[in-house]
Amino acid sequence: MSLPRQGYNQSDIIVNNRALLLQHLCREGVCPRVSLARKTGLKQSTVTNITADFIRWGLVRETGFLSGSKGRRSIGISLNNDDFGILSIRLARTHFVLSIFNLSVTQLVQKQYEIPEGQSADESFSLLCDAAEELIREASPRRILACGIAVPGPYSTINNRIALMTGTVGWDSIPLCGVLQERLDIPVFAEQDANCGALAQYWLNPDFYSGQMLIYVAVGQGVGSGVINSGKLVRGRIGMAGEIGHTSICFDGPLCSCGNRGCLENYCSSTAFTRLVNEALSPAVPLSFKDAASLLQSGNETVTELFLTLCERLAVGIVNIINTFNPDIIILGDELTHVMPDLMVEQVRKHVQSRCIRELYETTRIEKSLVAKDSFAHGAALAALDDIFFHPADYFPSAQ
Ligand SMILES: [Zn+2]
Repeated sequence: MSLPRQGYNQSDIIVNNRALLLQHLCREGVCPRVSLARKTGLKQSTVTNITADFIRWGLVRETGFLSGSKGRRSIGISLNNDDFGILSIRLARTHFVLSIFNLSVTQLVQKQYEIPEGQSADESFSLLCDAAEELIREASPRRILACGIAVPGPYSTINNRIALMTGTVGWDSIPLCGVLQERLDIPVFAEQDANCGALAQYWLNPDFYSGQMLIYVAVGQGVGSGVINSGKLVRGRIGMAGEIGHTSICFDGPLCSCGNRGCLENYCSSTAFTRLVNEALSPAVPLSFKDAASLLQSGNETVTELFLTLCERLAVGIVNIINTFNPDIIILGDELTHVMPDLMVEQVRKHVQSRCIRELYETTRIEKSLVAKDSFAHGAALAALDDIFFHPADYFPSAQ
C-alpha cells in the first residue's frame, strides 16, 4: 500500500514549475513559449507569467522570431548564457580541475592543476581557493552565480566534510564548502564525485527517461557509485549512499582505512592497479598509473593478466549492486575504465553473467560512459545548477 503523498502548497507549485521550465530551457536551448507549455504540460498563461519574471531578472532572454509549423512565427526564449556562469571544481587525489560552464552546461574554460606528492591538504586547498578566485576574476564580466565541487570519497552532508579519502591525510578536516563560500562569496555545493558522474550521465543523455534507475560506477583513484532513481540522486541519511568502494569482497581481506576488510576499492581502483603492476614487475623506478596504463594498452602479458583479474573482482562488486538495487543500467567510468573501456565492459559483463541471477543479468545493461565529456566536471556544475533552478529568485537581486 502506498503512503499518502504530502500535500502541495501554492509556493511549492511555483518552485516546481519554475524549476521545470528552467530545466527544459537548459536542455532545449532556444524554445518558444508555446512549445515549453506543450513539453511541460503547463498552461501557456503560466509559462508566460513565469518567463516574464525570469526575463525581468535577467535569467532568460528573448532571442527573436522562430519559424514554426504552418508558417507560424513565435518568439524564442533561452537561458542567458552570455552573462552568467557556474564554477565547477573537480577534486582528485593527485590534481584538481576548475571549469566555467554556462547555464546550459556547456564547458567554456577548463584548467587543471597538479597536487605535488607530499603537499599537505591545507596547502593544496589554499592553492585551489586562489585558483578559483582567479578564474572567477578572469570570467568577468560574466557573473558566476554558484560553485559545484565534486569530491572523491564519501561526503557527509551533515558535517559538510569529506568523511574519508583513502591514501590521503587531512582533507577530512577541511570544511570545503564553508571556506570556499567565504572566499568566493557565492553559494557552494559539494557532491561525491560518483554522484556527479551519475548526474552528468543522466542529464547529458537524452535517451534516459525519468523512471529509470541509473547507477554510475566510478573506477578511478577510488571506487564509488552514484545512484539516480526517478530523476533524483539517492543520497541516503547523511549523503553517503552508494559507497560501493567500501563494501567487502573478501571478509578477511586487507584492512581498509574505513575500518572494513577486503574493500572493493583496494582491489579495483587505478591506485590498486598501479600498485599491483609495480609489485609484479618490480621496476628499478616505480611506475606511475600512466606508465602502467601504457603497458596495458601495448598488450604487456603480465599487466593484462592483472587487469583481467581486477575486472573479475570489480564484477563481484557490480553483482552486489545489481542484487541490491535491480537497476536499469550500470555505467562504468573514470580513470581506469578509460584505459581499455571495451575490454573492461566485456570482462565485467562476462563475470557478472556467471555470478548473477539470470533474470537480473538479462535485464541490466552494463555500459561504458555514454557521454564523451568529463562527467565529474559536468556533474559538479549540474549540482550547483540544480539549486539555481529550484531557487532562482535567491540569485537575482531584482527578484527580491
Ligand atoms: Zn574501506
